[in-house]
Amino acid sequence: MKYRQIKRCENINVSEIALGCEGFLGKSKAGYIAMTDKAFDLGINFIDMYTSDPVFRSNFGAAIKGRRHNIVLQGHIGSAWENGQYLRTRNISKARLAFEDQLKRLGTDYLDIGMIHYVDGMEDFNKIFGGDFIKYCESLKQKGAIRALGMSSHNPVVALKAVETGLIDVLMFSVNAAYDMMPPGENVDDLFEPENYKKGFVNADPHRTKLYEYCEREGIAIDVMKTFGGGDMLSAELSPFGVAFNEYQCIEYCLTRPGVVSVMAGCHSTEEMEKLTGYYTASAEERDYSLVLSKMDKFKFHGNCMYCGHCAPCTMGINIADVNKYLNLSLAQGGVPETVADHYKLLEHHGGECIECGRCEKNCPFGVEIIKKMKKAQEIFGY
Ligand code: SF4
Ligand code: SF4
Repeated sequence: MKYRQIKRCENINVSEIALGCEGFLGKSKAGYIAMTDKAFDLGINFIDMYTSDPVFRSNFGAAIKGRRHNIVLQGHIGSAWENGQYLRTRNISKARLAFEDQLKRLGTDYLDIGMIHYVDGMEDFNKIFGGDFIKYCESLKQKGAIRALGMSSHNPVVALKAVETGLIDVLMFSVNAAYDMMPPGENVDDLFEPENYKKGFVNADPHRTKLYEYCEREGIAIDVMKTFGGGDMLSAELSPFGVAFNEYQCIEYCLTRPGVVSVMAGCHSTEEMEKLTGYYTASAEERDYSLVLSKMDKFKFHGNCMYCGHCAPCTMGINIADVNKYLNLSLAQGGVPETVADHYKLLEHHGGECIECGRCEKNCPFGVEIIKKMKKAQEIFGY
């Protein structure tokens, strides 16, 4: 397992492959313990708990008893339980009761990440960030009941507005190669609607690209939901592309988006967990999503770096995907931010070392003019 840091919270390091909570639901107490034991064995130390189901909270609390500090807990603020059912709420009293219930049942006095639950609409965003709800969330952070403040969303416009407030440390966002082509919208069902993909798309939606780049630049950690598009991405019949990805290609795609620290997988069994962590021993070919993305008829990625790494190896050892990433982060900003300059400096080889041999361009499935990009990187970073 590999770990990435939540940059705005120095002490929080999360596993690249993490758990959603849906796979626990309906299991016995022994099932919760078996799933949790397996997660720890595999090095998984991060879970998202969107559900307000009291059975989940109590059983999971029992499963982590005595090892609370080995796991990073991401719980949701505004996910409540009323009349035996889940309720999304912006009512402070209900949110407070649900939050306190969460801590009590989990057997802890803090969450590592408190997520403002599911904000896709602009009206909802304005209500939360312009009113008492955000003050309540900030008060939780001030008193140490949450260490980091997050927000979950499927809408890149709303998500960008949220991270631009400077209040959000972690963004939970729906990411996969199909959703990344879709224009923004307030209705999450649009992302799953096959009709919306029929006409095809050229290149990733610029709102999503802008969001990921903003998060990377500002050190806001993205943890990913819908890595497999609810399973659709894994099936040629159901995938909007008409081509199946495998699990490792989906994970690799997400982990190579700027800003992303972790993918949340809704594993339903210990076997599924084992399979997904097989990502680390899978071959480069098994993980290479460019093999799928470059062969589609209606969906074209051309001229823009997808950070897939298919162009490697470079004759001079340059990590071309990383150089392109830092170049794009700077170009989008209209200058070189200090943090990006620091990251570029840490690379072992730099754009300026390119000898224009052309080997990489033959290997790039997306027609990226790599030599020009390396020269541009040299121009703006100075080496
Ligand atoms: S230059 Fe091409 S092959 Fe290399 S990382 Fe970018 S898209 Fe992939
Ligand atoms: S053209 Fe430049 S970046 Fe590409 S393989 Fe050759 S040295 Fe590396």
